[in-house]
Amino acid sequence: MQGMMMHRDLRIIDILTYAAEAFPDQGVISARDEGDVNRLSYPEILGRVSQLAHALKGLGIEEGDRVATLAWNGHRHFELYYGISGIGGVCHTINPRLPAEQMSYILNHAQDRVLFVDISLIGLVEALKGDVPDGMKIVVMTDRAHMPDTSLDVLCYEDLLADQPTEIDWPEFPENTASGLCYTSGTTGNPKGALYSHRSTVLHALFVITGHPRSLKAGRRALPVVPLFHVNAWSMPFTAPLAGMTMVMPGRFLDGASLYDLMDAEEVYTAWGVPTVWAGLQAEIEKRGNNPPKGFDDLVVGGSAAPRAMIVAFEEMGVNVNQAWGMTEMSPIGTRGIMPAWLENAPKDEQIDAKSGAGRRLFGVDFKIVDDEGNRMPHDGETTGELYVRGNSVIRAYYENEEATRSSFDAEGWFGTGDVSTVGEDGRLVIRDRSKDLVKSGGEWISSIDLENHATAHPDIASCAVIAVPHPKWDERPVLVVVPAGEKRIALDELHSFMSEHFAKWQLPDDIVFVDDLPLTATGKVSKLTLREKFADYVLP
Ligand code: ADP
Repeated sequence: MQGMMMHRDLRIIDILTYAAEAFPDQGVISARDEGDVNRLSYPEILGRVSQLAHALKGLGIEEGDRVATLAWNGHRHFELYYGISGIGGVCHTINPRLPAEQMSYILNHAQDRVLFVDISLIGLVEALKGDVPDGMKIVVMTDRAHMPDTSLDVLCYEDLLADQPTEIDWPEFPENTASGLCYTSGTTGNPKGALYSHRSTVLHALFVITGHPRSLKAGRRALPVVPLFHVNAWSMPFTAPLAGMTMVMPGRFLDGASLYDLMDAEEVYTAWGVPTVWAGLQAEIEKRGNNPPKGFDDLVVGGSAAPRAMIVAFEEMGVNVNQAWGMTEMSPIGTRGIMPAWLENAPKDEQIDAKSGAGRRLFGVDFKIVDDEGNRMPHDGETTGELYVRGNSVIRAYYENEEATRSSFDAEGWFGTGDVSTVGEDGRLVIRDRSKDLVKSGGEWISSIDLENHATAHPDIASCAVIAVPHPKWDERPVLVVVPAGEKRIALDELHSFMSEHFAKWQLPDDIVFVDDLPLTATGKVSKLTLREKFADYVLP
């Protein structure tokens, strides 16, 4: 028997129309490429998004057309999220840190009809030397007064909006209509596209809100340092208006000092981003001797494992830290990092242990861990296996990429994350490693994440990464690549005695090499691939 309730297709634009009505005093504050700070309320933004939708139609955009963005976090980028999807188009966000070759590949793979670009990024489009889809239009996201000098044939964003009506009848379409496209930079081969729908995006936003009640609070200000070009800024452009929050968009300056000043000036309550960004902020706080005085209560860290020492440092400053784990293919968030109620009165150390894991699954996301043959392994907190996921906000295929699709799903249709993990009886997920980053020594696995986590707590180590190097007897052995915190170079025996409490002797690194910086991926994570290539011929002493 069928239920007798109405069916309304879920639409992304309904989030913004709701926010404009329910939270007219909230909106978006943006540190812009033009050098100023812009403030818009949700009703004002809705008017601009309606103008944008008319303008997009004027450019010939129809349902299903892909429209690309190459931009930092700012209100115009946010407007594009809603304007493009609102008329049934697909908002294709592109990571400006990708090499030109990959950028051309994804623009052509997606067959984008229009590219919207920030002033400061126009040089990247010039560098593509016309290797873009035929007839693709380029719009610079600024006003006439700030249009850059360029050899390209470009349109001006504010000119397009001017004189357009501030209202529109938003079209209805089935909720499975595509709304967003984000390519994930695979470590081998070309980037692969995750194609989100209105349904997956709205449901995911709701799941995230239920999972992060401490961070997503009406009337507070949220700072997405995680970029809008990287998996929907972890859904913040959807969760913030739904939850009645104001977003503070940082623009292109993401160093510790700029973030500190912005968080203080704009009284940011919660900030979201990857550990490398927070390491920069942590250093700035140590330099200035205190937290941003008017902001910063809550921190959500994800994208790669947050080192325990970082969690302790922020918690000691009175900041509540949560981890979130996820993937581009999962919209992206898969876990809630908030501490379970039963640990509320536990000793601080136990609480930090819980926060050092990747959290517990969000509603709407199912987990299973499997061995190499695909057999389900127990969720006992000890047995490791590859984590598979399924849910309403998980991809069921890659966009126009049968080969990648074939190798990513099991016979039951679950998606393989490539993360080697344990799941506890209490649901706690711990990512031991990405399968390709594990060190295999004498047939036993050593977790690079565990080693990095403990090593980072040493005062002479600013940051570090573990890589596997070839070994004649043990196949592979771990080597610690260290960025020193000061002048002192930590000795191997000192490192061993510092870490011996937590590891068996055979798990400890065989050597330390010192570097000035760790290479980062386009999404700001430490690039193990680059390190492995750099140390490919490394011989252990
Ligand atoms: P890319 O690395 O190409 O940017 P994603 O952003 O989708 O792609 O990365 C997803 C991966 O990042 C996960 O599979 C996992 O290995 C890692 N990751 C994300 N969040 C966490 C976390 N909180 N702890 C540990 N690893 C994480």
